[in-house]
Amino acid sequence: MFVKPIILLVTSFFLAFTMQISFSADQEHEIKLTFLGTGAPRPSAKRYGPSILVEAGEYKILVDAGPGMRERIFEAGGFELLTDIHHVLITHLHYDHTIELPNLWLTGWLFGRKTNMKVYGPEGTTELMNHFEDAYDWDLRYRYMTNVHKEGSDLITTDVDPGVFFNENGLKITAFNVAHLPINIETEELLGLEGATYGYRIDYKGRSVVFSGDTRSLPGSEIIDISKGVDVLVHETQIPYPGATKEALLANVSMSVHSTPAQVAHVFNQARPRMGIYSHIIPPETTREKLLGMTDYDGIMEVAEDLMTLMIGEEITIGEAKNEGNVIFLEADAVDD
Ligand SMILES: [Zn+2]
Repeated sequence: MFVKPIILLVTSFFLAFTMQISFSADQEHEIKLTFLGTGAPRPSAKRYGPSILVEAGEYKILVDAGPGMRERIFEAGGFELLTDIHHVLITHLHYDHTIELPNLWLTGWLFGRKTNMKVYGPEGTTELMNHFEDAYDWDLRYRYMTNVHKEGSDLITTDVDPGVFFNENGLKITAFNVAHLPINIETEELLGLEGATYGYRIDYKGRSVVFSGDTRSLPGSEIIDISKGVDVLVHETQIPYPGATKEALLANVSMSVHSTPAQVAHVFNQARPRMGIYSHIIPPETTREKLLGMTDYDGIMEVAEDLMTLMIGEEITIGEAKNEGNVIFLEADAVDD
């Protein structure tokens, strides 16, 4: 543990350095991440629900659709970005990863997206999306009657199996199983809930990012092999609430399906990503210093914040999403004449 102050010093220096150069390196990246929400189910004004935007070439792909995501997208890129997201990856069907999907689907469409949104996720995703379409059927029919354009108002959903399920124009997406289904805390046996919970790996032009999804990562977990040598590994974490308050009891129930910083440190040490990043942080008010201090890892790592960006290229640079005044609605043909 004596090396910890050095690690902190190195990471603080790295953060300060990269913050300075982040925008000059804009053209140099192959993949850009924008952390729209870095929290979990517990409401937090600082950490919205889990959602990360991936930009690679012509693609804008959302990983999960947590509470508050739509407003963060608006903050990051205004109407242009809201109407330009065509692909969504859902890691699993918990509401904190899916509840904002109808909001992006309908808002993006209403304000001008004319291509149907494509959604990918584990078994059950299509069923959930069909329910969303049923739930908002009245809204859609209402707007069609008032001449809002029809194009782009469908959801095209695919339940995917583990493995590569998307491979076009140099962009490859792989789903892999992670351990987040409910278990018996004493015996650690699965309780038998159907379905699956995924992490995703995205590869583009020789750059790569892995998203852990929600998981309790243990030695031997698939995420270790699939993340070996990856550019960026985004991993969730949970630290126990202290005491025996009602909040602590509720929060700590989920320790059996999330990863402690010690468990994440094991993954980082085995996988050795160019940069390890914490996101989906429970409890959301946990400080950066505390998380870094609890993670016994000597590689480069950071704790994501809402609206933090990562440019991934020859260098990996940290920045902050900035909306350059793009809050004026310009999509003049959103309503049919
Ligand atoms: Zn979650």
